[in-house]
Amino acid sequence: MLTDAHVNFSHKDLINSVDQIIKEGREEGISKFLAVNSNLYDIETDYNLVKNYDFVDLTIGHHPYLCNEVDEDSFKALFEKHINGYKDKIKIIGETGLDFSYDVKPINQIKSFKLHIETAIKNELPLLIHVRDAFEETYKIINEYKSELKTVLIHCFTGDDNYAEKFINLDCYFSITGIITFKNAEKLRRTIRKLPKNKIFFETDAPYLAPVPMRGEINKPSLLRHIIEYYCKLTEKDFDNIANIASKNYERFISCQT
Ligand SMILES: [Zn+2]
Repeated sequence: MLTDAHVNFSHKDLINSVDQIIKEGREEGISKFLAVNSNLYDIETDYNLVKNYDFVDLTIGHHPYLCNEVDEDSFKALFEKHINGYKDKIKIIGETGLDFSYDVKPINQIKSFKLHIETAIKNELPLLIHVRDAFEETYKIINEYKSELKTVLIHCFTGDDNYAEKFINLDCYFSITGIITFKNAEKLRRTIRKLPKNKIFFETDAPYLAPVPMRGEINKPSLLRHIIEYYCKLTEKDFDNIANIASKNYERFISCQT
């Protein structure tokens, strides 16, 4: 029973073989997938790719990379239309968040991020966030809304001990990617080891971040096992036990339980 909590099925490297990728993932023991929408204007594509699979959940959101323009009215209208229209599939608001390593004005990213947060609050849905080079700003914003927000996931967590502690104190969940297998990730490994077991789950972030020894290749859910195996080696835990705990954590996250 494995859960891949982040797959970008509509990415050009995956979009033409989604059925095959899901089949291979199932053969590797994956019983639940999260299909991530990162372009709000193209949610129909993501929905259509996975609509026939009842074991695939879907998100709705607009990635900070795409926030050069943020039209509040059209965001709100799209959220409204699709959260209702795709009610059977949409479990999470995101991917949203802040990424100051990218050339998109922080003010626009923050505007979009807050629109997502308010949508999550209004619809009582969990929030999936991406953070890079913007941990302090993200922390402040989540902290501001903490009493109204249900559950929050920091996907592909790459923060340090200080931010791990801060987000743990906000009751956030963390998802762990193949980055933990990368040679230069020693510092991150030390932090990941300290995350509470009841707050973590695993994701491939396919097609990105293929784990060692497949690093550089197109990542797929069928490689999730390598990430969990690596984590278990790192923490001296049992694979089946951790895979089970992680899948349960994911289910708690989507049912808005901390
Ligand atoms: Zn991301």
